[in-house]
This record gives sequence, structure tokens and C-alpha cells, in this order.
Amino acid sequence: MCIGVWFLLITTMFSSCGHAALTTSSPLSVGQTLSSPGGSYELGFFSPNNSGDQYVGIWFQKVTPRVIVWVANREKPVSSPSANLTISSNGSLILLDGKQEPVWSSGGDVTSNKCRAELLDTGNLVLVDNVTGKYLWQSFEHLGDTMLPLTSLMYDIPNNKKRILTSWKSETDPSPGEFVAEITPQVPSQGLILKGSSTYWRSGPWAGTRFTGIPEMDESYVNPLGMVQDVVNGTGVFAFCVLRNFNLSYIKLTPEGSLRIQRNNETNWIKHFEGPVSACDLYGRCGPFGLCVRSGTPLCQCLKGFKPKSDEEWRSGNWSRGCVRRTDLSCQGDSSAETQGKDRDAFYRVSNIKPPDSYELASFSNEEQCHQGCLRNCSCTAFSYISGIGCLVWNRELLDMVKFTSGGETLSLRLARSELTGSKRIKMITVSILSLSVFLILVIAACGCWRYRVKKIGASIISKENLEGAWKSDLQSQDVSGLSFFEIHTLQTATNNFRELNKLGQGGFGTVYKGKLVDGKEIAVKRLSSNSVQGTEEFMNEIKLISKLQHRNLLRLLGCCIDGEEKLLVFEYMVNKSLDTFLFDLKKKLEIDWPKRFNIIQGIARGLLYLHRDSFLRVVHRDLKVSNILLDEKMNPKISDFGLARMFQGNQHQDNTGSVVGTLGYMAPEYAWTGTFSEKSDIYSFGVLILEIITGKEISSFSYGKDSKNLLSYTWESWSETGGANLLDQDLGDFDSVNSVEAGRCVHIGLLCVQHQAIDRPNIKQVMSMLTSTTDLPKPTQPMFVMDTSDEDSSLSQRSSDRFSVDENKSSKGA
Ligand code: AMP
Repeated sequence: MCIGVWFLLITTMFSSCGHAALTTSSPLSVGQTLSSPGGSYELGFFSPNNSGDQYVGIWFQKVTPRVIVWVANREKPVSSPSANLTISSNGSLILLDGKQEPVWSSGGDVTSNKCRAELLDTGNLVLVDNVTGKYLWQSFEHLGDTMLPLTSLMYDIPNNKKRILTSWKSETDPSPGEFVAEITPQVPSQGLILKGSSTYWRSGPWAGTRFTGIPEMDESYVNPLGMVQDVVNGTGVFAFCVLRNFNLSYIKLTPEGSLRIQRNNETNWIKHFEGPVSACDLYGRCGPFGLCVRSGTPLCQCLKGFKPKSDEEWRSGNWSRGCVRRTDLSCQGDSSAETQGKDRDAFYRVSNIKPPDSYELASFSNEEQCHQGCLRNCSCTAFSYISGIGCLVWNRELLDMVKFTSGGETLSLRLARSELTGSKRIKMITVSILSLSVFLILVIAACGCWRYRVKKIGASIISKENLEGAWKSDLQSQDVSGLSFFEIHTLQTATNNFRELNKLGQGGFGTVYKGKLVDGKEIAVKRLSSNSVQGTEEFMNEIKLISKLQHRNLLRLLGCCIDGEEKLLVFEYMVNKSLDTFLFDLKKKLEIDWPKRFNIIQGIARGLLYLHRDSFLRVVHRDLKVSNILLDEKMNPKISDFGLARMFQGNQHQDNTGSVVGTLGYMAPEYAWTGTFSEKSDIYSFGVLILEIITGKEISSFSYGKDSKNLLSYTWESWSETGGANLLDQDLGDFDSVNSVEAGRCVHIGLLCVQHQAIDRPNIKQVMSMLTSTTDLPKPTQPMFVMDTSDEDSSLSQRSSDRFSVDENKSSKGA
């Protein structure tokens, strides 16, 4: 928008509603308010309980009773009837009382006073440099007792920084109360409420999309929370995202130490979550090895194999000293008895549990390894294999365990084997049941053998052929017409026995080889590695999906082969391999000039339009990136790799798989944080792709200037300053004006696609029409990770997000 229009807008708003921005010449006085442009929030003076004490705060403009979401001078109210919020000579926000004495200041070492303060529609009060447009300070980085959508809590160990919530002292006193909410640097992190210096409540470790100690956060829970941890750099961010379909929402830490998520359905506030709610939620309620049973009386029980440390205290309801083992573990007291411990200790499974505190993440990749790892380590008292986390082990006493009526996790508790063997009577019953079961099994097996003989089937019940037959009939029943079933030896011959020389590239799910069939036709064979992340499900998914999709911008699947452990996919061969092999190669990039790049962008958009809209299925790809764009002999792009793609039915627009898989840098924020994917998360990845194609720079390794700007922030700034023409890959030399205009427009479209809010991003139909017309484009909002690149916290978000891929294999490039 040009400066003239801005000026008009500002002056119009100024005259109609008081203030649009705070400047040195137009401060905010008692009685005046500053509204956000869309009228969602308001900044002004308020006096709780009409006490006469004046505070500067932000509240929801259209909500009564007023909900204060941020306070500037929490610790020092203004008692004089007049006061001003203005910009000081050194450029910070400053609150002056009636005597012009400073009461509060935003601080910092800002040196220019050529700045203004604005209240954004997100509720963020920002101090903006008039020249560069950069945020010099923002209230979102100085939280009080409330988190609004898009705010975050964080820790940054190397810089000794934390962003926390601090409760008010009372409902009418904003000064800091005794409760604090923060996230811990444990891996995985958990949320804590502290009362003074003691832990008051604990959320349980974060499991990708939920907190494990909050059973309400089950699969069906729409979780507006997200966590990103960068273990290597010692940082973590916990973000509150917008609750879909609710205009207003917030998280508040109340003066009583309760964390509440509230959302507004136009008429009322609805409680989305509250914790702590039950007596069991108070930290360490039943002491070490004690279990707090939410529905139980008495509240506390000792875990199986444990007894109260003091019977008397326990009986009188004083549970704080917890419980002790009845029987020592076999390896206790004898350090050389590791193997003895292995033989004599056993695990007892306790279900519906809030995992205890002081957990450690172990690198075992399945439950059995986790079990064995704990068994081998004498100091391991328990383990739990949790979906979304993996293997957690405990090497100390178990504290703060809650037993829920449903939900929660299963904890395997280490006990001396003798604790698990019951009384003689139980043993007898067990033996009888076992004998009966064995007998029944024998009878069933005999019947089976008989039927088997009658049918004269081969030697084993589940023969290899049968298994393959099952695969084929499953696929045939899915109407995969046109798909060939190859014999393994055909593909072995075609690829010279999967020779290294034939290798075309390596994806997350296996290696791709070039092959030649006897009729001379060239093919690409994707051989699923046996330790691949692409299990049977993804394999079948890819076959079913692509065989039904046919478009000139999608890679064609010719057939598949299943032979024992071997799973292979056969594709049409793409002479020019993947786009990354051109784009990021100093020599080869010269072969793709701007017209070719524009053609590639349009081709990908057409492929995506087919996936999202035009095919009879609606498909979200979930892993769009340069290495998944293949190029034919005419450099036409084809989208490949449908292992992670998902079909959508009818009116379904979004889904959540629970696990987040995808590739660094390409994942939309809502997908990375909450696992929610939709067409719009593909659009985000497409936006990143557009920017990579234009600039010839890789999202994962791009870093510019002393602020280490990432590709998005670099693009945003260049586009804001020069319209984006200077972003074109400089290695291509000079561009004519037509190319520059076209590329500038593509930068603009790319920025529209990578907007933080999914709802703001265009859909693929709109993208397509933007790419093929010259109509005016809407103004993009600043991408989230760009919000002030000079600021450590924002770069922290980006750094952390770069690490946030659970599917690291998938980020590897093709050869
Ligand atoms: P993918 O596992 O699909 O991500 O493929 C890994 C790499 O193998 C790609 O990045 C390409 O470089 C190469 N590749 C995959 N499929 C083909 C194909 N049909 N033709 C040529 N190269 C391919």
C-alpha cells in the first residue's frame, strides 16, 4: 500500500476513533483508548474495582465484563488523576504520571525516537521503527498472566532467558502474585505451575500434540497448544495457537494458581481447559511411589509392591512421605548382579497413569527395546513407551503419579519377581486356566490341521504366495486398474541387481534405482528399505493413491512388486531427476532460466490443483518440497512421493494424524505444532517452494546477514522494501523487465502462501488464477517466523522449527 493511502487511512481512523497509533506528538491520556484496526482489542487506562489506581492495559474491545489481557505498570499504579502513555526521547514506551514522573517504561536500549506504538489485531502492542518498519519492542514478549493466540512461553538456557506467566495478586490487584507458569527444559518439556519456589502442578511430558498428564487431551481434543524444543541449542517454545471457529480465546493463570483456557462463542466464555482441578492434581500429593487415585477414597494408595513409609502417618491422611518397597530388587545392594537382576526382577504394568516426574528420554525405538534397556539398568525403576514421545525411563523415586478413570499412559514398574507371584490358590487357578487354554488350543489346532489337509494347501499356513496374493487381491479390490504387478526377478534384471551405479536417489522410505525393462522402456524403481519409516501402511497408501491419480504434473506409477520382505514401486523414469539437483547446483541452475522456473511453478500449481480440487479424490500431499518435484525431458515438473499423502472425504477440510511427519522448513506452523493438516498446509509448503525456486536458495540452509535471517524473513524484508524483484536468483544474471514483474508477482504469491494463519492463505484455485492473471493481489501478513528478525526470540522460533521434524530421513536429498 502506498504511503498516501496509509496516511489517508491513519488520518481517517484517527479522526473517527481517537488513536490509531501512539506517537511523541499524540500520547494516550487517561480516558482515551487506542483500538486495534479491526476493533478486536483496545488499549487504555483502567482502574480495577474503581479504586482510583490507574493501570495501562489491553482488553477485548467488544467483551463485557472487561477481560484484561495485559498490563503495563503491574507493579506501580498511577495514583494521580492524569497520566500519559507516550514515547520517550530514547524511543521507548513510557508512562508518565501527572507530575511527568516516569511510572513504567518498556525499557531496552532503543536509540531512535522515530517510532510509533500500534495495537495490532492480535492484541500485540508493538513499538515500530518508522523507517525500517521493524518491531523494537512488543507486549507479546513481555507477558503478564495471560496468553493470547500467537503468544508463547519459552526458555533459552544459553542466554538465561525465560518467558513465563505470573498471576495477579488478586482479582483486583494486577501486581505479581505467588503463582508462575512456565515450561521446563526437560526432554520432552512439560508445563509447570509454581507457587513461590515449589512446584504446584505439572502437566506431564508433552507428546507431540498433547500433555500426557491431562487425560482430557485425548485424540478428539482440539488442542490449541504446540511445543517446539531445540535440544542441541537448549531452547524451547510453547505456543498458543488460534482456536478454530472461535474469534476470541486466551489462557489465564488465575490468582488462585489455576491455568484456564477460555474461548468465546460470540455470547459466552466457555472453559476449554482448567488445571489443576482435582485434589490429585496438586504436585506430589501422595509422596514418592504413592499413587493418587482421582476417584478413590482414600485418595492415596501405595503402588503395587510398596507399603507406606509410616503406617501411622498414612492412616491419618498425611501421605507426603510416600511409600517404600516391600521387597528389595534383585540387583539392589550388589552392583555385580546386573544379570541376576535381569533374571529376578520383573515389570508390573499400571495403566491410566499420569507419568511421574523426573523422567528421562531414552533412545530405544520400540517398547521391547525400552523394556530390555530398563531391565538391564539396575537403577531403572520404571519405563513407559508413549506414543508421540517414545521411551521414557525413571532412575529415581517415582513422584506425582495420578491414576485416572480413563486415558493416561501405562507405566511399567520394576518389582522383585516374588512380588508378582501370587498366593498358592491364585497359582492353582492360573495353572488350571492355563491347562484348559492349552487343551483348547490343541483342539483348535487339530481342527485346523484337518481342514488344511482337506484343502491340500502347501506346507505352511501363511505361505509367502498367500501373503502376496492377499496384497494383490487387496489392491485389485481397490480398483487399481492399469497397475502392473512385476516379478522381483524382472526388476532385479532391469536394475542390474540394484547396483549402486543405478542409484538415482535416496528418499525417506527407500532407495530409488534406474532400470531398463527388456522392451527398452526406462523405469525408476523405489525399493523400500527394510528399516524404512514407510511401513506397509504407507506403501499401500502410495499405491492406492497414485494409481488412481493421473495428471501430467503428477509422477505416474506403472506398477509394484511384493516379494517376501521386498516391497517395490515402479515409476516412469524422469530424465532430469529432481528439481533440487538443478536449483542448488551452481552449474546446473543456469539451465533453468526464469521462464523455465515460472513454467515449473505453474506446473506444480496445476498438479496441486488436481490433487486438491479436480481429482475425484481430495488429496493433501503433506510433503511438498524441491526433492519431490521431478522434471521430465522438457523440464515439466511432476509431483512425486505420495507416501505421506492423505485422502479427504466429502466436506472434511482438515485432519490430525497425531504424529507430525514432513520436512524441515516446509511444514506449516499449525501442522508442526498441532499435527493439523489441510489443503492450506500444502499451500504453505508450496509457498516455500515458490520462494526457493525464485531465489535459488534452500530453505534449510539459507542464512543472511549478521542477524542470520532465514529465507522467509529475508524475502519479507526485500519484498516490503523493493517489491521483490531483487530476490531473483542473482546467478542467472540480468533479467528483462517482463521477467522481473513476473518474478515479483510470484514472490508476492509465495508470501501469501506462507502466511501464519491457514485461513489467510489462498487456496490452490486462487493461487492458480493469481499466477495466470495480472489482477491486484491482496497484501500478505508478515510470516510468523519473520516478526522481528533482530530479536533473539523470533530467531529462536525459527531455529527451533528447523529442528522440528520427526522424520529426519525425509529431509535427505536425492543423489
Ligand atoms: P523419493 O524417495 O521419491 O523422495 O526419491 C528420492 C530421489 O530419487 C528423488 O529426489 C530423485 O532425485 C530420485 N527419483 C525418484 N523418483 C525418480 C524418478 N521417477 N525418476 C528419476 N529420479 C527419481
